Amino acid sequence: MSAPGVQLIPSSEEIMKILTRTAAFREGHFVYPNGKHTAHYFQMPLAFRYYDTARVLAVALSRKFRVERDIASQLPKISIISPASGGIPVAFGVRDALNAEQIYWAEQENGKRAFRQYVNQGEINPCIIVDDIIRSGHAIEETVELVRALGAPIIGCGAIVRFTSAPDSIAGVPIKSLVEFDEKYYDSAEACTDCKKGAPEEHVRF
Ligand SMILES: [Zn+2]
Repeated sequence: MSAPGVQLIPSSEEIMKILTRTAAFREGHFVYPNGKHTAHYFQMPLAFRYYDTARVLAVALSRKFRVERDIASQLPKISIISPASGGIPVAFGVRDALNAEQIYWAEQENGKRAFRQYVNQGEINPCIIVDDIIRSGHAIEETVELVRALGAPIIGCGAIVRFTSAPDSIAGVPIKSLVEFDEKYYDSAEACTDCKKGAPEEHVRF
């Protein structure tokens, strides 16, 4: 037990244990719709189906933001923004932990990212963009464009897991994460070591 008031952030190993226990992280032989093969698979919503786990993860991420002077000084007049549905439970959890005033989330509509809320110019507080996992960073990049077009400054960005192949900063702010994961893909079955071993494959949708 830590002393009251000491805000500890769980280690990457502790976070990975939670993700493994909830099956949000699995090892095996996976094939993506784009034909790539991997030995690891993250399905983050599985960790967020348990309230207690969701809370631990969101509170841990919120602590990475709270220590930033530029963020702490603007609370509670900030907004938490999710680029997609996967980030919504993260956004609500971080909002709760920071007591932030606003929350927004975006969706893909006809191939274009848009806010689910009808947002007007100037309505969004200085914002923190959060997601469950950052694989390529494209969703975050598109959300940055959306937010900037609406005139809101971006003061933070983060996710529970960030693949190290994704950007580590965006719009001039560093991307915070609880786990930095060095994901290895094989571009084809021919290149995949699990295929060579004849391991049964599991096709995944995302
Ligand atoms: Zn394979």
